[in-house]
Amino acid sequence: MLSTRLDMAEKAYTQLVHRREGGRLRRFLVLRPFGPALEFDDMDHPPELPAYDAARDLAPRTPQFVEHTLTANERGKGGRPGLPVVTGALAVDCDLSGACCSQYPVIPATPEESRRAVDALKRFEPGKPPMKPEDGFAPSTLGRRDLLTPILEGDGCTFLTGEGCRIHKLAGAAAKPWTCRQYPLQVVHCGNQFEVSILPQCACAARTVHRSEDADEWPTNPLQGLTTVPQVPPQVRVDDARSLPRAGYLEWARALADVLTVPGMDPVRILESATTSLRVPGGTLTDAWLRTLQTRMTSEAARLETYLDPAGPQPKGARWAAKLAEGLLRKPHPKPVPSANDGLVFALAFRAHLLLELPSLAATLCDLTRIARLASLARAMTPADKVDARLESTTLLLYLWATTRWPVASEKT
Ligand code: SF4
Repeated sequence: MLSTRLDMAEKAYTQLVHRREGGRLRRFLVLRPFGPALEFDDMDHPPELPAYDAARDLAPRTPQFVEHTLTANERGKGGRPGLPVVTGALAVDCDLSGACCSQYPVIPATPEESRRAVDALKRFEPGKPPMKPEDGFAPSTLGRRDLLTPILEGDGCTFLTGEGCRIHKLAGAAAKPWTCRQYPLQVVHCGNQFEVSILPQCACAARTVHRSEDADEWPTNPLQGLTTVPQVPPQVRVDDARSLPRAGYLEWARALADVLTVPGMDPVRILESATTSLRVPGGTLTDAWLRTLQTRMTSEAARLETYLDPAGPQPKGARWAAKLAEGLLRKPHPKPVPSANDGLVFALAFRAHLLLELPSLAATLCDLTRIARLASLARAMTPADKVDARLESTTLLLYLWATTRWPVASEKT
């Protein structure tokens, strides 16, 4: 029996990661999505879980989002949902880079989706020995057979090839699990409407983002397959002493996103002016922050290597970020060489409502300003795509920011 030393809320954050290595299946129990991992053999006899240790958890973020449970009416049936979806003027394409397929150790899928994917491969690869769903998918949660995830192989999903997703290439996007199809979209409930944002850590998005009024690139029903979405709270915390009502926050965030989408704008200066408009301290790159970044990323890489292939983009990316910090601590460090794409990439961050993924707007803006500076400087150092062709420095930094507990000077809560 699974130990009950974790309370129910913490148990909800355990995940199973499965990795095939030379024909052997290795299983890991990961505590919280980005916590430490324990290897074990027997699914019927999982290991005793250690007591939850918040100090070892790299991602105990306390986002401002609240959870919105979708009603049947909101999810719609087959067609568009019954509520408006605001897509804005940004559009992205999937260029089958496979970056997301090797960045997430758990990709939610249902048993039906696993059967559909395997059946599709059978139809399109008639000469190949048929695969069983359990060869490609395994449970993602202890004690549940209805929540699955693709098994990892090499440095990513077992279906990932050098040309992207095998299922997508052969049978089309519709044959993939819904999670894969809707990536990098994030649907956010904004009080009386939904907004569809783009997760800025998507490497394809960073490369293909463009301004468009055409919503055809989007799934016809982005709410289908989802049961809950994050919701902007009625009051958004600016810092310990101040908050903005939801409508005020949305107006401010949209105005900021509009400025950021203007090509050629310097994202660092825009972020600085955003911090000024909210009267919060700007994020300068101090040696202390860089040292913390270097330590965190080194320990993040070591943690990831316990259950992921060290050659995969995630561990490599964390090592790259640690090296970047180390390089910047040497004086003099390289001069910034800003990229024309930075403005658009950071616009995505705001469209994605990432501003609400830390306890306060002040903390998030401070972090993003530092990351923008780092991304600009990174272009004069080893770019992330030299480390792994699937990565792009700005998106990698945003990804690491979103998935690890980034050092935040103003995060006191
Ligand atoms: S099923 Fe395809 S799209 Fe989904 S993670 Fe695997 S390779 Fe990527």
